[in-house]
Amino acid sequence: MCAEHNGKRFAEQLVEVGMQIGWPTRLVSFGPDITAAVFAAGFAIRVGFTFGGIGPGEYRKHLIYNKDRCFAFAMPLGYVTDEWYANALGCVNFGFPVIADTPIPEILPTGVCTYEHVVSNVPHDKIVAKAVEVRGLKVTVAEVPVPVAYGPAFEGERVRGEDIYLECGGGRTPMVEWVTSKRMEEVEDGKIEVIGPEMTDVPAGSKLPMAIAVEVAGREMQEDYEPILERQIHHFINYSQGLMHIGQRDIAWLRIGKQAAEKGFKLSHIGSLLHAKLHQDFGRIFDKMQVRIYTEEDKVKEIVEKARAVYGARDARIEGMTDETTDIYYSCTLCQSFAPSHVCCISPERTGLCGSYNWMDCKAAYEINPTGPNQPVEKGECLDAKLGQWKGVNEFIYKASRQKIDHYNFYSIVYDPMTTCGCCECIAAVLPLCNGIMTVNREYTGETPCGMKFTTLAGTIGGGLSTPGFVGHGKYNTCQRKFIVGDGGIKRMVWMPKMLKEEIAERLKARAEEVGVPDLPDMIADETIGVTEEEILPFLQEKGHPALSMEPILG
Ligand code: SF4
Repeated sequence: MCAEHNGKRFAEQLVEVGMQIGWPTRLVSFGPDITAAVFAAGFAIRVGFTFGGIGPGEYRKHLIYNKDRCFAFAMPLGYVTDEWYANALGCVNFGFPVIADTPIPEILPTGVCTYEHVVSNVPHDKIVAKAVEVRGLKVTVAEVPVPVAYGPAFEGERVRGEDIYLECGGGRTPMVEWVTSKRMEEVEDGKIEVIGPEMTDVPAGSKLPMAIAVEVAGREMQEDYEPILERQIHHFINYSQGLMHIGQRDIAWLRIGKQAAEKGFKLSHIGSLLHAKLHQDFGRIFDKMQVRIYTEEDKVKEIVEKARAVYGARDARIEGMTDETTDIYYSCTLCQSFAPSHVCCISPERTGLCGSYNWMDCKAAYEINPTGPNQPVEKGECLDAKLGQWKGVNEFIYKASRQKIDHYNFYSIVYDPMTTCGCCECIAAVLPLCNGIMTVNREYTGETPCGMKFTTLAGTIGGGLSTPGFVGHGKYNTCQRKFIVGDGGIKRMVWMPKMLKEEIAERLKARAEEVGVPDLPDMIADETIGVTEEEILPFLQEKGHPALSMEPILG
């Protein structure tokens, strides 16, 4: 602190309003004149001497050290004289930006400082956040502010029927999770809003629709990073004792247990824990984040629509890339907390079975966190081009599954298919009588021709096993060119729920044309035709479904 305003020193102004000053509060007055600002700069130089080991006379090193390591800024409050401005520019020379509350000339291009040099006319209620932003400070929240125990130990914990206080999603109500990036001024760091009923407004055993909308902003933030942040929501919520989270995107499913509710857990805490954890683990790529949690049906449906458009655009980025064009695939072991031997291996033409991670996303995730769950996998020698098996991949999954799985095929459901975890968007199953396969999406709760509903299928094969005859896959993957191509590809598809067929209609039509069976979508049976093999077979025969004339699927 230095200088005065209308004859009253900075320190005197603070004392007058009862504020404690001095070293304990780090509010230290250096003198009544603006020239005393030099003492603060003198302190900064000592930092370089003491901690940086920089010697006398090495002015360039001192200035660079201060710019990179000493997170200081100058904040002229009130009328800025020419002399003040000159002193402020002296600070800029150290790499310390100037944040003013009056309309002094701004110097916005970057160069000497990390970001802008002089930012002015900032209202007082925004000035702290602005200083943090312009100086490039990173927010870290050391403790996750939730009233329940929190940590990876609670991941994988189940909340069962009679223990449920609140349930959202899982096919019972709509639920969606969406991370999107915004401009810096559109995001207020740490702002958490619950729009609609809170936990405390509903009795135990309730169901609510839910949209978790996370908005982030940052100078390093890229659209490519959004899915990576979004996928963390699953894990970070699961770290809370008494909460269970499954799925992602618009098929998420959340249960909050009665014990968590008794301890005071509320929906707003989901925002708080996401704010804390995402800052802790991904603060390098964004600077600010706010969270809105909607529990009103109309609003949730609106977010679902918006998010779906974005999911579509994200998925489409991978179009055009083929597995042959890259030597590197990416692993994903995020789901090992639920399915310990499960290792997804993601190639351009086989997106993650949860639907949230494609090859591009994994590549971006690896860039952000080189020691994280998405590692590059050199596919190495091709052992089976038809079924999709590579030596390098096998070696990787053997290690990553802790010696549980030593190989799998990317393009087959019949012969050693890829492992499946409980997050999958769809599960495909062989239908021997129809000489084809069916697939069922998580949202469809009815019976299927393989004799099992989605939940039973997920419970049976979703533990990280490779189960011949069954495989988990993403919705998008259904129309990718390599989808079970080792067993005959999309021409084997004989049944899928109507809702799924409608959802992927456009891409299914294009893929059907590509394989020379343009009428395929109309030949695929759904629940309106039947839910047993016997019921759908006559329909397939009548339509002349190509699967019926293909070689036997079970060899
Ligand atoms: Fe990763 Fe696979 Fe889990 Fe998706 S399902 S998060 S790709 S391990």
